[in-house]
Amino acid sequence: MIEIREENRIYYQFKAFKEIDYINHLFTSRIGWEHSDQAALSNIFKTSRKKIIALKQVHGTNILHIDREEDDYDEIRRTEADGLITNLPKIVLTTYHADCVPLFFLDRLNKAIGMAHAGWRGTFENMAGKMVENMKAIYNSDARDILVGIGPAIGKCCYEVGRDVKDNFFERYVEFPDIIENRNGSFYLDLWKVNLLQLKKAGIPEENIILSNTCTSCKVDKFYSYRREKGSTGRMIAAISLTE
Ligand SMILES: [Zn+2]
Repeated sequence: MIEIREENRIYYQFKAFKEIDYINHLFTSRIGWEHSDQAALSNIFKTSRKKIIALKQVHGTNILHIDREEDDYDEIRRTEADGLITNLPKIVLTTYHADCVPLFFLDRLNKAIGMAHAGWRGTFENMAGKMVENMKAIYNSDARDILVGIGPAIGKCCYEVGRDVKDNFFERYVEFPDIIENRNGSFYLDLWKVNLLQLKKAGIPEENIILSNTCTSCKVDKFYSYRREKGSTGRMIAAISLTE
């Protein structure tokens, strides 16, 4: 990802998404975002704070579809969900992360976008695949037109899981190779790869899937890591919007 420094703030963008002129997107860092993050977002996305939509994230796979303009989106902010999709311009879809995988979606033909939060539970329940299915159902999207960015999240370098989680993934994703690494009797889960393979299974061509390959736990100077910091309350914001 490209690192952008602006007024003491650091944030990140995917090159492939940045090159598309009718969207804006970012993944924040821990630098310069401690205060006034909503004001900064509103500035960067050139929209009012009321158009910045977040969810009550619960590590599930509920996906909300924003299909009309509203004065505020308070009801959505109170709804338990972990994914958002829309084809309306100037609405900023956001999810909050500290190790959990941020998934950015763009259907380039239908100009529809999506943002999702997938920790191990959401990943286990195939959040990535469900986002694609929702875009197909609602916008008649063709998976071949969808671009997906897998943002910074805890990598298999650092993400040790218990035997129960390891067994669950092995059982459900028998056909996915190398998603668990055994190092000295400990198990490490590759969330990036599970999401990648789920997206491929949903029909997204591999060349349309962009991996940031950035581990939030390794780069704790730039990102918050819930695991590494043992329950840190800081979060990064993942956000995407259609500008027109
Ligand atoms: Zn790591």
